[in-house]
Amino acid sequence: MRSVAIDGPSGAGKSTISRAVAGRVGFLYVDTGALYRVVGLRFLRTGELGLDTLDLTMDFRDREQRVYDCGEDVTEEIRRHDVSKAASDCSALPEVRRFLLERQRELARRHDVIMDGRDIGTVVLPDADLKIFLTATPEDRAQRRYEQLGEHAPAFETVLRDIIERDKNDSARALAPLRAAPDAILLDTTGNTFEQSAALIERCIRERFSLS
Ligand code: C5P
Repeated sequence: MRSVAIDGPSGAGKSTISRAVAGRVGFLYVDTGALYRVVGLRFLRTGELGLDTLDLTMDFRDREQRVYDCGEDVTEEIRRHDVSKAASDCSALPEVRRFLLERQRELARRHDVIMDGRDIGTVVLPDADLKIFLTATPEDRAQRRYEQLGEHAPAFETVLRDIIERDKNDSARALAPLRAAPDAILLDTTGNTFEQSAALIERCIRERFSLS
């Protein structure tokens, strides 16, 4: 199976770009942040991690990833702004990372994947065929996140502050911190349109796998 790892900080456009490009090249798009978000949501709801009772499942009907906790479809709810912070906090815990690691690897064993996250190229799939590290300035990323949140968005300054906070959280943690793999292609999307970044990544993938 073939694998592409796309890592980078929040709001760099990883998921939108990866989803679109995966469709164009016929790979499965796997959003690993969603898994951490399910754990974060569970924590917000119950005040504990409860990994032993967490029954996390995914399906990919029509190549759209949906996530479930104990059969409840939480795909939309995990996008809530407060879940982002909870996911980031929970993701620093070794038992959480251990719990999710094998699930991510299993998907890459069974499918051609474009997998996005923070530690895909460094920890989850260190032998990925292609690694890309996507970044952009915090202001650019906050703007994107702000637009994504739409009517649920808090003030722009809050989104920016939270992005900076989450960057710090994700980069400073001892376990699997956010950093580019030494063999990753670095791509700064600041000022790019979505299509410019998507086209660039699509070209990297087509070249790497000799796709026409
Ligand atoms: O990508 P997304 O913003 O949905 O991820 C939510 C949180 O999950 C991130 O802030 C990060 O702390 C964590 N995460 C992670 N490793 C991944 C994917 C996400 O630690 N591979």
